[in-house]
Amino acid sequence: MLTVEGLSSAYGRIVVLHEVSLTVAQGEIVALVGSNGAGKTTLLRTISGVQPLTGGRILLKGRPIERMPAHARVGLGIAQSPEGRQVFGPLSVEDNLRLGAFRRQDAGLAERLAQAYAMFPILWEKRAIPAMSLSGGQQQMLAIARALMAAPKLLLLDEPSLGLAPLLVDQILNAVVSLRDQGMTILLVEQNASAALAIADRGYVLETGKMVHQGAAQSLLTDPRMQAAYLGL
Ligand code: ATP
Repeated sequence: MLTVEGLSSAYGRIVVLHEVSLTVAQGEIVALVGSNGAGKTTLLRTISGVQPLTGGRILLKGRPIERMPAHARVGLGIAQSPEGRQVFGPLSVEDNLRLGAFRRQDAGLAERLAQAYAMFPILWEKRAIPAMSLSGGQQQMLAIARALMAAPKLLLLDEPSLGLAPLLVDQILNAVVSLRDQGMTILLVEQNASAALAIADRGYVLETGKMVHQGAAQSLLTDPRMQAAYLGL
């Protein structure tokens, strides 16, 4: 589904990603973990096209997309749920969801709204209230549901568990697993490496802009170097 080859990215003269490569196959959850400031968010933003690259390639189903503007990538099936939730606070929950639909008039809109509410029933209960009145966990659910409204083929999730209580973390990650079980392809960025690897098929570890480990999620979870450096064991 997604192939990233030798990708570099910089903020001005500060290079943040150094020839990073990864793949995500159809129907996989791939976890991207690494400490604060490693460049995980920058990698997601470069894939979605919000951040320009300085080198390398990005292929979606074999098609180069690295020169396409972000909106064209949404049209091809890439949706990102941003870190820090970033919902539209004064707008109602339902209007936030409607804004996530790439083609506002398309026929599948009502069905996707129904799917979003089925996945997160609390959003149905709160559909008419301003998004800023939601709790942190509910806002996170809204951000994910809004990304799904574009009917993506590839979902980029940035830190969906950030700042949430353990019970809510479980609820969000269970939702991610059920999306994968329905055929969605997911690249999941998390600082909570053990929680992310526990639900992922494969994982990558980014350290100061370089990929330093990769492998099956289970083998990363049991790797002593991973346990010492990233898993707090
Ligand atoms: P975190 O989990 O803290 O978000 P991260 O792994 O997602 O970490 P990034 O947010 O991608 O890391 O940041 C990578 C590096 O790029 C950091 O050193 C950060 O300070 C720097 N950086 C991020 N955004 C900008 C920006 N807009 N301008 C300049 N430097 C930036």
